[in-house]
Amino acid sequence: MSPKIHLCQPDGRKSCGACCGMYNTIGATRESTDALLRARRETLTGSPCELSLDALAGYREQRLAEETPDKLLPLLRNCPFLGVLDEGTGRVGCMVHPKVCHGRDGRDLGLYDRETCENYLCAAFTHLSPREIQLIVRACGDDSFLYGLVLNDIGFLRGLFQGVADVIGLYPNDDRLLHPTIVEAVAEYLALKVDWPYGDPEAAIIGAYLPDGDENVLRRSIDYAELGLEPSRFDTILTCLGSLFDEAEDVREAEAIVYGAIYEVATRFEALIGASRAG
Ligand code: SF4
Repeated sequence: MSPKIHLCQPDGRKSCGACCGMYNTIGATRESTDALLRARRETLTGSPCELSLDALAGYREQRLAEETPDKLLPLLRNCPFLGVLDEGTGRVGCMVHPKVCHGRDGRDLGLYDRETCENYLCAAFTHLSPREIQLIVRACGDDSFLYGLVLNDIGFLRGLFQGVADVIGLYPNDDRLLHPTIVEAVAEYLALKVDWPYGDPEAAIIGAYLPDGDENVLRRSIDYAELGLEPSRFDTILTCLGSLFDEAEDVREAEAIVYGAIYEVATRFEALIGASRAG
């Protein structure tokens, strides 16, 4: 159905650096993440490919001493060689990867070894269908920050599909999902990941998960009973958005935002079904 896409670097316009620690900082925002990744690139004066391995090792020590991030997930490493590769789009990637450095591999200087960097595949590689991948790649445009967040939260995308099914009575799982009008509406929904007004200020960036001690993560849960409410029909989505609510009214407003985004996708999908039947 579709050409094979490498999820980490799908199309030269955006990329994901989650496994290298891109999102692994308490309270991280789009702005702070972008600033950090650009600062790393700027600290590596000149081309990283032309620096000696000793100079790269010196850079690593300098960044590790300066960054000391407040990590969200202690076991995930925040590698200082993850940086901005393309200043125009902000596309991120490994600055010492052999495909970036004309064959020279500097990944043994990173916080994993090169075999780990080369072979590790995240859950998205296994669980996303080719059509879901195409949809995410198209809907995220050249937004690397959004792309990595969506790629690492399969429940958020599937929550949309379920919401659409609840509206039109049909689970969307055919190539109409890749129609430009659907991609446009899905992009609006996915953007909630970045601009969510009810996000946990410390950990919304990892959505449905919360750090638990030095080694574990827990699934986030929203205490509706505390707010005098039944569980929301959009609980999966609200959880994936890393929501924290102070009062019942916030939940209602959040549900309205989510429903609006789902409804837009659903009505467009239904219109495409109608058009294909009429044709
Ligand atoms: S050295 Fe490995 S962990 Fe570090 S940025 Fe490169 S691929 Fe990621």
